[in-house]
Amino acid sequence: MVNQKRVNEIINEIKPATLVAATKYASIEDLYELEKVGVTIFGENQVQSLLEKYKNYNGKSKFHMIGTLQTNKVKYIIDKVNLIHSVANYRLIDEIDKQSKKHNKNMDILIQVNIAKEDSKHGFLEEELDDVFEYLKNKSNLNPRGLMIMAPNIDPEKTDIYFKKAKELLNTLKNKFSNYNLTDLSMGMSNDYQYAIKNGATLVRVGSLLFE
Ligand SMILES: *Cc1c(COP(=O)(O)O)cnc(C)c1O
Repeated sequence: MVNQKRVNEIINEIKPATLVAATKYASIEDLYELEKVGVTIFGENQVQSLLEKYKNYNGKSKFHMIGTLQTNKVKYIIDKVNLIHSVANYRLIDEIDKQSKKHNKNMDILIQVNIAKEDSKHGFLEEELDDVFEYLKNKSNLNPRGLMIMAPNIDPEKTDIYFKKAKELLNTLKNKFSNYNLTDLSMGMSNDYQYAIKNGATLVRVGSLLFE
């Protein structure tokens, strides 16, 4: 069940950043409840679950892909999402561009960075980012909007350095690649979103905290 009061508080607390409600715990009824209290974006981390929700939800809010995405599944979601947060390797870049061309659309993407160099996490290393954004120049149907990170699962107070690092990386890229409109930082989850906001997050992916 949606904790409407808490959702409201978070929406106001993170302003001007936008809440991306991570909906892996949500039912279709929950989606309508979330919409009612002002949630405009649902973030899904699984293709199957996104397709089901997309099919059964007829409201106004939009879907983002926020989780690990396999190359062979891009074709199923390309016409259903407004932003893909989790672009984590070159094959995905190629495939999203290819499928976007097929659908005659420009796809907004974020480049996922493995900010703490964890074996358990996907994403490019910060050292690769210059090459990645060079590479994107030849992908005419992709619209890079910024970076996405997941902080390590540690004491939230210690996540600060990773969010700060992400902000610095985005600023550096903004200067080097002024051909793009790099404005977005997708970071922060239920346990650490306050630290993400403090360091300039524009999209905050909160899930469990929104539900009873
Ligand atoms: C589930 C999920 C979140 C939200 O996590 P909570 O701890 O439930 O807030 C954020 N990002 C991704 C990619 C997720 O899968």
